[in-house]
Amino acid sequence: MEYPTTLQDAIVYFSDKDRAFAYALNYRWPNGLVTCPRCGSERHAFIKTRRIWECYGCKRQFSLKVGTIFEDSAISLDKWMMVAWMLTNCKNGVSSYEIHRSIGVTQKTAWFMLHRIREAMKSDKAAKFGSNDGGEVESDEAYIGGKVKNMHHSRKLKIRKELSEIPAWKNTTRYAGKAPVMGLFDRTSREVRAKVVPNTRRETLQREILSNVEHGSKVYTDEATAYENALKNNYIHETVNHIDCYVRGQVHTNCLENFWSLTKRNLAGTYVAVEPFHLDRYLDEQMFRFNNRLGVTDHQRFNKVMSQVAGRRLTYADLTGTGSATSH
Ligand SMILES: [Zn+2]
Repeated sequence: MEYPTTLQDAIVYFSDKDRAFAYALNYRWPNGLVTCPRCGSERHAFIKTRRIWECYGCKRQFSLKVGTIFEDSAISLDKWMMVAWMLTNCKNGVSSYEIHRSIGVTQKTAWFMLHRIREAMKSDKAAKFGSNDGGEVESDEAYIGGKVKNMHHSRKLKIRKELSEIPAWKNTTRYAGKAPVMGLFDRTSREVRAKVVPNTRRETLQREILSNVEHGSKVYTDEATAYENALKNNYIHETVNHIDCYVRGQVHTNCLENFWSLTKRNLAGTYVAVEPFHLDRYLDEQMFRFNNRLGVTDHQRFNKVMSQVAGRRLTYADLTGTGSATSH
């Protein structure tokens, strides 16, 4: 059977448990050498009926899920793969309610599954953007988050309280429940890198640029952001005046603004109430699809996520900040 190219194909393909297992195995240990995730031993016996290995090194058993985002999950691999396919390839993302309805797990489990897959979607690229010979980088910030009316009651109350403590003349209502996000876009690789920042003060934004952009690059920002010497000394800095002319030749931040509008539309449509605490994870998801949108097939996007499941873990306690170790 050919590798799947559509969601329909993927469902049929991975519904065969042996096939799903063989497929995941190939990405878990790409060089074909199965090693125990606990002790690193290459000496073990495979128990075919249970699809687990008996390690001769540490005398313990391990499955394909150990040491991956799937660890401790009772959900079968075929379901995990279906959800991973949907999240990586559905243009607007997929909500925990849709997963709950389509694969028959509880909404809470679906929510946890989606967050674990987002963990595998995280980019592991650390290379700086731009280049020392004037590579172009856009820099911009935005306020992103759910609409207050869609939020959980307790959160709504908290925001109303915060707002009531702000003087009326400071009209910050439109930022309520939203988090400041800083983004960079590399014009050469066409990739975006964005994350939640504590504030949009000059020092904060400059620090992000300094640690993510190669010295000597051209950095384009809008005029609202006051950048000073730290940037001037290290970069060719140009600003866009949004009132006079939106686009001055090459100097614009439109690519990044495109990313912001896609992200905002998704968060308002598919994910109605994203807590600022989880926003970075949704950004990882958005960035994954955005950075893998051109010339990448659904099948390749899916493979990329499958190749990043190992060595990453996200426990329920990490996710909720509760410290309780409920497994799902
Ligand atoms: Zn072992």
